[in-house]
Amino acid sequence: MNTPKINILSTQLANMIAAGEVVERPSSVIKELMENSIDAQATRIEVHLKNAGRTSIEIIDNGIGMNQDDLSLAIQRHATSKILNEQDLFRIKTLGFRGEALPAIASVSELTITSSTGEVGYQVTVKDGEESYALAPARKGTIVHVKELFYNTPARLKYLKNDYIETSSCIDVVTRIALAFPSISVLLTIDEKEVFSTAGNGQLLSIIQTIFGQELATKLIPFQKSYTDVKVEGFLGQPEISKSHRYGLYTFVNGRSVVMPKINQAILEAYKPFLPMMRYPVVYLKFSIDPSLLDVNVHPAKREIRFSKEDLMKTILLEDIQKTLQASNLAAHPTFKQTEVIQPFTLQESKEEEIAVIEQLALPFEPEQQTTLKVIGQLHALYIICEGLIGGIYLIDQHAAHERVNYEKNLKLLKENRHRMEPLIPLLIDLNPAQTKRLTPSILSRLESVGVVLEPFGGNSYKIITIPTWVNAQDNGPLFIEDLLMQLMDDIHMDEDKLRLYAIATHSCKTSIKANQSLTLTALQSLVDQLFLCTYPYSCPHGRPTMIQWSKYQLEKMFNRTGF
Ligand code: ADP
Ligand code: MG
Repeated sequence: MNTPKINILSTQLANMIAAGEVVERPSSVIKELMENSIDAQATRIEVHLKNAGRTSIEIIDNGIGMNQDDLSLAIQRHATSKILNEQDLFRIKTLGFRGEALPAIASVSELTITSSTGEVGYQVTVKDGEESYALAPARKGTIVHVKELFYNTPARLKYLKNDYIETSSCIDVVTRIALAFPSISVLLTIDEKEVFSTAGNGQLLSIIQTIFGQELATKLIPFQKSYTDVKVEGFLGQPEISKSHRYGLYTFVNGRSVVMPKINQAILEAYKPFLPMMRYPVVYLKFSIDPSLLDVNVHPAKREIRFSKEDLMKTILLEDIQKTLQASNLAAHPTFKQTEVIQPFTLQESKEEEIAVIEQLALPFEPEQQTTLKVIGQLHALYIICEGLIGGIYLIDQHAAHERVNYEKNLKLLKENRHRMEPLIPLLIDLNPAQTKRLTPSILSRLESVGVVLEPFGGNSYKIITIPTWVNAQDNGPLFIEDLLMQLMDDIHMDEDKLRLYAIATHSCKTSIKANQSLTLTALQSLVDQLFLCTYPYSCPHGRPTMIQWSKYQLEKMFNRTGF
């Protein structure tokens, strides 16, 4: 007997399957519902959560509302007021358009929607696929109440993370929407406690201040650029507020909080010279892009977006972010909780001593030169204490500062002159047997690409035939080569440019003054002057800060002198 094997899924089952894509967790419900409120032109949205959104999510808006017919259609699959035909798909201006969210949420929870266009109010409740209708108060706007999310999908429920993680994810979604729409006032409560309430005054900075605090808001650099087809506006966080994760990166495209992978990469790349390894910037950037250049239909939850000119945009943006950062005062501004007493001391110096030290530092001797900072003394034989041009105090790490100066000097030398030379006196380098064994022809040829040629000299010894001209071969040659070798053996695929930069960074570090070195005032001043001639004075080549600053105002505040 031939019994049919194919069944048409019931509506409820089809919706539950769709829910698997659209409604992963409480935060995805919040995202869909808030987007609906925004599409309905709400200017005020309240989000109330209980139990990390598991038992109750309630979204109240003051948007256009729905009449009775629309309310019953809204919960049907593929029912949307936002697009009508295929052309509309390519010029989407609303956040929603798939007509999937409400039926999907209804299929995995007990859903109640109360809505009114201002006259009569209606309410629909859906549970287990059953709909029931009632009249409701005529309050213009919509209230969507989602109870017992995933009560009928135990696997989904089990897949949820602990309350802390689910709550964080909900806060993140509400935060991103509040930032994306500064003109909408957003209130978030969790278990009846207010988390934040934004003014909806259209000012991004004021929204950032409400959510992340006054202190962070003072450490942002405004960024605004107009390109063909794209406008970018927002704030770049100073390096001192960097994070150990990427969640401080807020990018928005036409109001959507989305990721444009290449653009994100450009932002991270732009910050590289300013941040240590494994630190990520805080950035709030809004992109306004012609919708016809965007493909938003890449991901069901619309988290990722494609932009046809992303490659071009990436290069220009990277450059402009770097320029903006370079032009800003990026000295760290710590807030003192406990004020330590700083006792600077200065060395008694003779002219000869001074010149000797300056020569040792290989810094030009220009005592008359005026720059932005005036050196007052040295602390712990490590930090340079300076007074700012308009007051305030700077502490500069002498090693990090010298490293930056050397790095840029060597980089310049390398750009001008890629030449290699033979050491004046024959130099040998002794490797250990394990290193010799790993010194393959491929490693030797990579070394050659950065100017180092080695020749076997019997046993584990090698003769240095050539070395880059910018390395002081006699003093640092063997150490320099050993470092390069170690790096190459760790990462055989490192490309030539990276290897060269690595070589310069290590060499700059090795040849820089260390901690525990007392220096004369003039030598310190010379170092500070050199630092401020650098392209990136605020960080060392490894991305650590070179200086921290307390402004005159901060000092006055700490001494309670403000208001005088
Ligand atoms: P989509 O947003 O993709 O259109 P949804 O299932 O999220 O699909 O919503 C279906 C429809 O219900 C929307 O197109 C809209 O007309 C209506 N709707 C949903 N939420 C609201 C709301 N908060 N206010 C007014 N109308 C709403
Ligand atoms: Mg929607």
